[in-house]
Amino acid sequence: MSEKQNRLSELQERIVKTPDGNYEHQIEDTKTGEKASVSLTAEDLTKLFATMITEIRKPDAETQRLKDEADARRQENIRQMIAVHTAEQDAQKNRWANCSHKKERGESAWVGQPFSNGMYQAVCLKCNMMSKPVPIHPSMMSGMA
Ligand SMILES: [Zn+2]
Repeated sequence: MSEKQNRLSELQERIVKTPDGNYEHQIEDTKTGEKASVSLTAEDLTKLFATMITEIRKPDAETQRLKDEADARRQENIRQMIAVHTAEQDAQKNRWANCSHKKERGESAWVGQPFSNGMYQAVCLKCNMMSKPVPIHPSMMSGMA
């Protein structure tokens, strides 16, 4: 414990309401018996508490620096994720644009993918382009187990 903390631990402080409706901040050094008091109006007290709350909430320089660093890292991660995602989307768009959706012998590369929820989606085997899911038409069920 530092000398300052030792010193502070010996002080007893209290705020009391005075008969005139104001307040008194009383400080007593329990070691020396020394007493001091500061008169405060209700307005002073409100300001004092407001200042204290602001000071308590204000992060110290190191906390603020760590917070700024963490924020900067998060921003950078988001920026990189967006860049990767955009690059992937561009690559996919290129694949789709340059795909004939046909197999080597000219047959369609589209295959149907039925789902248990009664929907069906066409997928290109070459570029993985997917159609929008559509409800399975009964005629599409022929030949399916
Ligand atoms: Zn394709």
